Amino acid sequence: MDPPETAYPVITSYWGDAQPDRATMLSGDEAADVAVVGGGLAGMSTAYYLKLTRPDLDVVLIEKEYLGYGASGRNFGNVPQLSHQEIGYMLGLLGAEDTRFVVQHQARMLDEYEALIAEQDVECGFQRLPVLYVAIKAEHLAGLEEIHQLHRRFGIPSRLLTPSHVADVCNAATFGGLSCERNATVQPFERARGFGRAVTSLGVRVHEGTGVDRCDEAATSVRLHTPGGTVTAAQVVFATNAYTSLLGIGNGAIRAAYTYVIGTTPLHREQLVEIGWSGDHTMLVDAGPLNEHFYMRVTRDGRFLIGGGGRTRETIGAIADHNDPAFYRRLQIEMVRRFACLEDAEVGVAWGGPLGMTDSRLPVMSRISPRCFLNAGFNGRGALIAALSGRIMVGHVLGAELADADYVRFGRLLFERDAAEAARP
Ligand SMILES: Cc1cc2nc3c(=O)[nH]c(=O)nc-3n(C[C@H](O)[C@H](O)[C@H](O)COP(=O)(O)OP(=O)(O)OC[C@H]3O[C@@H](n4cnc5c(N)ncnc54)[C@H](O)[C@@H]3O)c2cc1C
Repeated sequence: MDPPETAYPVITSYWGDAQPDRATMLSGDEAADVAVVGGGLAGMSTAYYLKLTRPDLDVVLIEKEYLGYGASGRNFGNVPQLSHQEIGYMLGLLGAEDTRFVVQHQARMLDEYEALIAEQDVECGFQRLPVLYVAIKAEHLAGLEEIHQLHRRFGIPSRLLTPSHVADVCNAATFGGLSCERNATVQPFERARGFGRAVTSLGVRVHEGTGVDRCDEAATSVRLHTPGGTVTAAQVVFATNAYTSLLGIGNGAIRAAYTYVIGTTPLHREQLVEIGWSGDHTMLVDAGPLNEHFYMRVTRDGRFLIGGGGRTRETIGAIADHNDPAFYRRLQIEMVRRFACLEDAEVGVAWGGPLGMTDSRLPVMSRISPRCFLNAGFNGRGALIAALSGRIMVGHVLGAELADADYVRFGRLLFERDAAEAARP
C-alpha cells in the first residue's frame, strides 16, 4: 500500500546551509591572473591547486551564492570510484591497459582525498565504508556477477553477497548484492565549507554573493561582468556545473538534471530494528540501469535517507525550482516498497540539487577557447573527482609540466571526451 500523502518540508540541504558573506561581494573592477567561476568542489579545488602550485599567482574565486551552495553541499555524502559500476563501460572505452591505470589512479585519489581533509584540518566525518549494490530484480544479478568478474580482473576489492548476506546488512528483500570496499563517506556540507576555509587561507580572493552574468574574451584577457563590477583575468576557469548553459558557454555539452532526496525524522528504536541496518555499509544502491536506481543510507541520528532519479535533459532554466512534490512522493513510495515498516515514518526533510550531465557520462576538463577552460559535468559522481579536479586543471591552466603526470594522463584519458563539442565556436 502506498504511504499517505504528505506535504514535504523542503530545504536547501539537510547537511547545512549558509548566507553569502556580503563583506566579500565584488564592488568595483578588479584584475587577476586567473579567475575561477563557481564555488563548488570543482571551483574550490581548481583555485586551491593553482595557488598551491604557484603561490605568486593572483587567483580570484567568484561564487553567486556561498561556497558549497550547489551540489557540493547537498549531495548524498558518498565518495565513489568511477570504476564500481562503470568498469565495463571503461573497458570498452579505454582498453585493458588504460583501464588498469584508471583503477589504480582512483585508489591513489581516495588516499589523497583523505590526506587532503587532514591537511585542510576539516571535521567532515570521513569514513572508509563499502557501498552495497543490490539486485532488487532477479535480472540484475547477472550484471552484478559480470561486474564482480571485472573487479577481480582489475584488482578492485569487491564481494558478491547472497540474499542472506545482504540481510545481515539490512532487511531488504533482494536477489543478492555486490559489496565494493574501496569507497568512503563524508558530511558533504562540512567537506565543502572546510575546503572554502582552506582556499581563503591559502590567499585566494573569494567573492561570495557575486554572480557572473556574461564574459567577453579579448586577445589578452577575459572580462567577467557581475552586477557589482567586473573581473578582468588572463585566464578563466568555469566550474559552474549544471548552471553552465545559463552563461551561454559549453555549447550545451553540459546539460542540467535534477536529483532529489527525502529523509525521515529520526526513527524509533523498533523501526531501526525492523529495517536492520547494520551500519557496515555507507549506503545501498540499486543495481540495474543508472537512470532508474535509488540510493539509501541511515544517518548517525537514525534518519532513513533515500535519493535518486529525477528529471534529466531539461535546461536548468526550466527546472530552477527544485521543489518537485511528485518526485518526493515517488521517493517515499520507493522507500516503503523496500522497507514496508517505514509506511508510517514521517518525512522530516526533503531537498534537491542540480547535476551537470554529459554525453560520455564523464566530466569535461579542458580548454574551450584561447583563454577559457571548463571543469564541469560530474554526472552525479563528483564527490571524489571534483575535489581533486584542481590537480588536473593545473595542467591545463599552468602547463602539464607543473602538474602531476598521472593526473594529466587520467584527465586526458577520461575528461576530454566531450571537449570538442564544448569548445565549438
Ligand atoms: C542530491 C544530490 C546527491 C548527490 N550525491 C552524490 C554522491 O553521493 N556522491 C557523489 O560523488 N556525487 C553526488 N552528487 C553529485 C556531486 O555533488 C557533484 O558532482 C559535485 O558536487 C559537483 O561539484 P561542482 O563544483 O561541479 O558543482 P556545484 O557544487 O554545483 O558548484 C557550482 C557552483 O557554481 C555556482 N555558480 C553557477 N553559476 C554561476 C555564475 N554565473 N556565477 C557565479 N557562480 C556560479 C553555483 O552557485 C554553485 O555553487 C550528488 C548531487 C546531488 C544534487
